Amino acid sequence: MEPITPQIEQRVQELRQLVEKASYAYYVLDNPMMEDAVYDRLYRELQALESAYPQLLTPESPTQRVGERPAANFTSVRHKVPLYSLENAFNLEEFAAWQERWRRQAPGINEFEYVCELKIDGSSLALTYENGILVRGATRGDGTMGEDITQNVRTIRSIPLRLAADAPTMVEVRGEAFLPLDVFAQSNREREQAGEALFANPRNAAAGTLRQLDSRKVAKRKLDFFAYTLHIPGQEDLAVAPTQWESLELLQKLGFRVNPHRQLCPSVAEVQAYYDRWNTERLSLAYMTDGVVVKINSLKLQAELGFTQKFPRWAVALKYPAEEAPTKVVGVTVQVGRTGALTPVAELQPVQLAGTTVSRASLHNSDRLTQLDLHIGDTVIVRKAGEIIPEVVRVLPELRPAHAQRFQMPSVCPECQQPVIRPTGEAVTRCINSSCPAILRGALIHWASREALDINGLGDKLVLQMVDKKLVQSVADLYELTANSLLSLERMGKKLAEKLIGAIAESKTQPWERVLYGLGIRHVGSVNAQLLTQKFPNVEAIAAASPAQIEAVYGIGPEIAQAVHQWFQLPANQSLIERLQATGIQLASQETAANQAGEKNLPLAGKIFVVTGTLPTLKRDEAKALIQKAGGKVTDSVSAKTNYLVVGEDAGSKLKKAQQLGIAQLTEAQLLEML
Ligand code: NAD
Repeated sequence: MEPITPQIEQRVQELRQLVEKASYAYYVLDNPMMEDAVYDRLYRELQALESAYPQLLTPESPTQRVGERPAANFTSVRHKVPLYSLENAFNLEEFAAWQERWRRQAPGINEFEYVCELKIDGSSLALTYENGILVRGATRGDGTMGEDITQNVRTIRSIPLRLAADAPTMVEVRGEAFLPLDVFAQSNREREQAGEALFANPRNAAAGTLRQLDSRKVAKRKLDFFAYTLHIPGQEDLAVAPTQWESLELLQKLGFRVNPHRQLCPSVAEVQAYYDRWNTERLSLAYMTDGVVVKINSLKLQAELGFTQKFPRWAVALKYPAEEAPTKVVGVTVQVGRTGALTPVAELQPVQLAGTTVSRASLHNSDRLTQLDLHIGDTVIVRKAGEIIPEVVRVLPELRPAHAQRFQMPSVCPECQQPVIRPTGEAVTRCINSSCPAILRGALIHWASREALDINGLGDKLVLQMVDKKLVQSVADLYELTANSLLSLERMGKKLAEKLIGAIAESKTQPWERVLYGLGIRHVGSVNAQLLTQKFPNVEAIAAASPAQIEAVYGIGPEIAQAVHQWFQLPANQSLIERLQATGIQLASQETAANQAGEKNLPLAGKIFVVTGTLPTLKRDEAKALIQKAGGKVTDSVSAKTNYLVVGEDAGSKLKKAQQLGIAQLTEAQLLEML
């Protein structure tokens, strides 16, 4: 046994206190004081210390307890069969390790299968039926003692008050009470209006609702319930339902709602396929799930394996990758973008997030920095959701090292050393030196990018050299380059140079909307460029348009209209357009009026779509193009006007917003069907 140092002992105490406090806030107050990822990390650190120094382990440690003791305002009830928590596996390796462990315990078992179920993110309930009548509904509490919430449970429509006729005399049912996402969004809207604190997530909302003292309020909240465990006391021979699968079927026959997305999986490969599938498809479910639960199907084998202090040994929760995690800031660098905006970026201790390693995260701007009060060395929560670049969500000041230095934005541009400005009313600090190499580089990279002029071979490294060597000082200069002029660049042979010149020349055939997007006007992304070019078929028309005329385009707001108008007023931009015109670049639309006339009869005519996350087969651009071809409109942000959100894997804030607004969601398959 390793000797215990006072530091270790102190850390264990500290962790226990933190975990206990968080657990109380979470389970009793239904108001978490930290992110689940932070809680899980502290919990795991404690677990690791206790397993390295077993002499420190006590039965009171939070790692040995399920949930929390029941709250005083309800009658406590003792569960006939204890309710357990579930062991977590955060990836497939941990799942394999779990399988290894139980197989070591049951060495004779070579044939087995699993039942995979969705892990519903709600609050577990224990229901007791006597002679077919619901006599008690209780919360899990600390697993041994729960709260009697029978009155509230009776208000849940999907919980039968009376079971089907041939039900056994005594039945104990466990399952998950949850708030469907639209109901969750609605109750948070109501709470916001009433000036009440918002529920952090559907799980806390469900738990909070179940423990309301006034059942009428519970009834209004429309809780739902999926049953997943059946105990029939006195039938230990398991004759009625010898497997978990059959238990679920019997529960259904008795009148319970059982989640339909269960699956028998005879191998780890099938468990993995189920997990991968639901990691994407969960986004189109009407309720929140946070993983899948894998259970050994045979109840006889379950009984043989039994329970630890806290978990069944025959089941494990395979969690979806976290989108948030705590890590340390080791430094801050400042990047200059193509609009001259200075973006502070946190350099992080690498951390696994939503399946990738993250080592940098955006800090957005000076306002955000001030809000965060970021110090180098701070522990922060980083989030990576969907297409969003990882960002620092919050700082944990309680974990700040002594003498940590607060980070200050620089007063000069880190690229050109010219003073930076911060226009009043704006959060962004900017370099306004139009010959700042960073701005020029950004403009060139954007111009050459796939969605803009798509110049094959003109990547970041080449642009960096071209700007350093002053070969180009504007995007128009690209069209005056010759293969010979490129030969001075590193690793540039004659063939490659000719190829690049060819690709640059070819970009002249790209359509007008891509050119408009490539100009990099503020707020004009590819979707807005498309909207604008539909209304303004050539550069002369858009350059001459007033802000009001630009704003009249469907989907274009006043801020975008102003930015577009101002851009075309600047003499430097006017001469850029003239030079581009001289090269033969497409500054007018090729589309015929006839094309537009046919649009009305298309299947998605009049419908507004937003696409988010990674779709299983289509690239985002391809999905957008298909929708537009079918007459639909695609916008960048979700609003009340959006008709459908097409959701892929790792969707983030757009999905949240759509859920809050109750907007219909489509998977890629459903979209293709509509098309
Ligand atoms: P858990 O929620 O991770 O898993 C166990 C529960 O899963 C069961 O009790 C049951 O209610 C539920 N479940 C859903 N679907 C199921 C199914 N098909 N079959 C069986 N069970 C199913 O465990 P827990 O002990 O309730 O809570 C631990 C979690 O709570 C952790 O993820 C932790 O991050 C979080 N937590 C967070 C804080 C915080 O401060 N943020 C504090 C405490 C706990």
